Amino acid sequence: MSEPLDLALHLAALGRHVFPLSPHSKRPLSNCPHCRPASGRPGHRIDTCPCLAAGAWCHGVRAATTDPQRITRWWTAAPRAAVALAAGPSGLILIDIDTHTDTPPQHPGTALLPGIDLRTEPAAAGWREQDYRDGRDTLTLLARLRGGPHPWPTDPAHRPVTADTPSGGRHLWYQAPAPDLHQAVPPKPLAWQVDVKAGWSYGLAPGTRTAAGHYTHRSGDLAKPGRLPDWLAREIIRACQPTPPPQRAPHYRPVIASGGGPANYLRTVLDNGAEHLARLEDGRKTVLSALAYKAGGYLAHSGLSETEVIDQLITAGTNSGLTHREAERTARRALDNGKTRPLTPTQQHR
Ligand SMILES: [Zn+2]
Ligand SMILES: [Zn+2]
Repeated sequence: MSEPLDLALHLAALGRHVFPLSPHSKRPLSNCPHCRPASGRPGHRIDTCPCLAAGAWCHGVRAATTDPQRITRWWTAAPRAAVALAAGPSGLILIDIDTHTDTPPQHPGTALLPGIDLRTEPAAAGWREQDYRDGRDTLTLLARLRGGPHPWPTDPAHRPVTADTPSGGRHLWYQAPAPDLHQAVPPKPLAWQVDVKAGWSYGLAPGTRTAAGHYTHRSGDLAKPGRLPDWLAREIIRACQPTPPPQRAPHYRPVIASGGGPANYLRTVLDNGAEHLARLEDGRKTVLSALAYKAGGYLAHSGLSETEVIDQLITAGTNSGLTHREAERTARRALDNGKTRPLTPTQQHR
């Protein structure tokens, strides 16, 4: 098997953007102290971080590159680092199929294929919960419902790059069907046990090794990975389109336009916070927590409903890349703390 540096250089020569991961945690290597978020100090803006311009590996996927000198420097400093492929910058998407024997979802009718209600789909008639054990089954079901006779056409134009994962799963790398896609992972994956990594998300490169084992490159050519079959491209675009931020929902735009008032003060705090969060790669929980704490303080004075505020906080968190569960837990806890210390916006804040 090739050395990590050779693999990284090979992929970069094909135009694929790579960066190093810890072989143990499969997380990006640590940021430098300047780029590490600390409590009480919000993370800084990635687009102006001097480390990236200087060629450091800070900020994980944001550092991904095709520059052979940078790559050589990184893997000389960390020769065992696993090689990750940045999906969007490489023009790729990764379909990550799990075969864990997980607990089946609680509401399979709507959770096996998020966004599709099997109970009202004529083509799904006769589906039985017990037939769906893992991601292969749910992807096959999606194919059946959306026009693919089989999820994996084998003609050369559609041939993905495939790799077997150490946990028995399978990775399929395809050309990205559109720019501006986001990852689709729980709670809204493409299908139960099928995640899609797109945009600023990443996957272990075929051929790389982690402490858990080897990502064995089975088939396909990373110089020219296949196009998605049309039905699957449509589904991926549906699942991976950026979610429009709900705080821009039309029902309260006019309220913003009418200016002033404690409710709008808090909405502005939430909007600005969401915008700031969306730019962060690190420290998102800390920043969300600070925002929720502040929102909790202003909640009573604002007259907004707690449900509206918590929804906005969760959305801000998930849009920044936190999972729904992380965002909800962080937001609720900090909002509750904030509520115990009510605040009133001071004049200069308005
Ligand atoms: Zn740094
Ligand atoms: Zn930085």
